[in-house]
Amino acid sequence: MLRKVSTLIHSLPKVHLAAASICTLIIGTTLLLLPSEEVEATRSTITLIPAKPKANQHAPANLEPSGNETSEYADANLLDQPLDQTKTTTSELASTNLEEAVAPQIMENWIDYDVRSGDSLTSIFKRAGLSARDVYQISQATSENQVLSRLYPGQTLSFLIQEGELQKLRFVQDKLNSIEIARTADGYDTRIESRTPDIKTHIVTGTINSSLFVDAARAGLSDNMIMQMAQILGWDIDFALDIREHDRFRVLYEEKYLGDEKIGEGDILAVEFINQGETFAAVRYTDSKGNNNYFTPDGQSMRKAFLRSPVDFRRISSGFNPARLHPVLGTKRPHRGVDYAAKTGTPIKASGDGKIIWRGTKGGYGRAIIIQHGGNITTLYAHMSGYKSGLSTGSRVKQGQVIGYVGMSGLASGPHLHYEFRVNGVHKNPMTVKLPHAEPVPQSEQAAFRQQASRLMAMLDGGTTDIALNGN
Ligand SMILES: [Zn+2]
Repeated sequence: MLRKVSTLIHSLPKVHLAAASICTLIIGTTLLLLPSEEVEATRSTITLIPAKPKANQHAPANLEPSGNETSEYADANLLDQPLDQTKTTTSELASTNLEEAVAPQIMENWIDYDVRSGDSLTSIFKRAGLSARDVYQISQATSENQVLSRLYPGQTLSFLIQEGELQKLRFVQDKLNSIEIARTADGYDTRIESRTPDIKTHIVTGTINSSLFVDAARAGLSDNMIMQMAQILGWDIDFALDIREHDRFRVLYEEKYLGDEKIGEGDILAVEFINQGETFAAVRYTDSKGNNNYFTPDGQSMRKAFLRSPVDFRRISSGFNPARLHPVLGTKRPHRGVDYAAKTGTPIKASGDGKIIWRGTKGGYGRAIIIQHGGNITTLYAHMSGYKSGLSTGSRVKQGQVIGYVGMSGLASGPHLHYEFRVNGVHKNPMTVKLPHAEPVPQSEQAAFRQQASRLMAMLDGGTTDIALNGN
């Protein structure tokens, strides 16, 4: 922080050194206390300023507009307005570039333009009264980092234009990243400022009274966190069907802060869900290769080696029934798989990692793919309208990878996926077969994992919050 402040002072004209030091006082104190939008903190800080500085002490000689609007503005800034209102537009800029939001705002005549949908650099420059040449020069100056090549609504571009010349351009990408481009003798210089948020941990506990979404939200979990929890535990708990009143949950997750301001959420670190009396728990572990996965506290993968259903189905038109009348043939033919009714063209995913051992037309199955997996398991996908291009017999596929599309080739009364699951050649009901776990924590990392897992579970048990996870 100190470094930033001093850079700022150096950039100010010497005559205004007195003003600058008052600014420094403000900046110094406010930075310590309020990087956020907390109005209360701002007010108490502002009263620390010893004397009321006159607006003209702050105004540089070349500040031309000098309308009363400007001086009132400067006055108000220093005395009783919360800091985040010193910005003419977004409070985001103020909280990101506090030191700059305070000082140059007073000294210089910045104009902000909010990025609207459909905006380009050219359209915003045009609104600011700048020329195509300016656009070109700024594009050149930022060609390396491409930071201005994509603009999104909600972002802000601030311009400092003097006598028709663009002196400075400030672009706040998001709360963590901003860039300032300043005119020099021979072009423009860019300065990128990135901030790293502090990570804190947070625990939320809750009990189900009506539904997962209602009660988890009431307990304080965001939609994003509820989805993360459902994804981690979704291999074991069907959150649409299995949830009951009195089910309980605890979630330990990361929150990102800039100073006191929470700017976002990170990942779930540990979660426990007691569903109908059965406890499911998971911890996050980053292995030595940098892969993140969730495991049970004793090191089993939370993921299963197979997806329960290889298609996002609307409904299951026919379940597993070894003795049913075939809808097309009208004869009794065992149905040894599950049918997922879905629109023609719906993607079909490989339910597990494996190798394609059949890709082609196969009697009543129509266009079909058979995948050989580990553990002597095969899966079969039938009635496809087409195959995913690039795949053939012998191709290796990953769990969740699209292999083809729903259709009604072969003997089918309508578009659907017919899916079979065989273990040692014997048909199993894909809906109920016990699915093997994905790879556990490797042996070589068991020690590191156990340490991490027991620490996370202890935090979850103790209900301790806001403890930095990495003690360094
Ligand atoms: Zn079928």
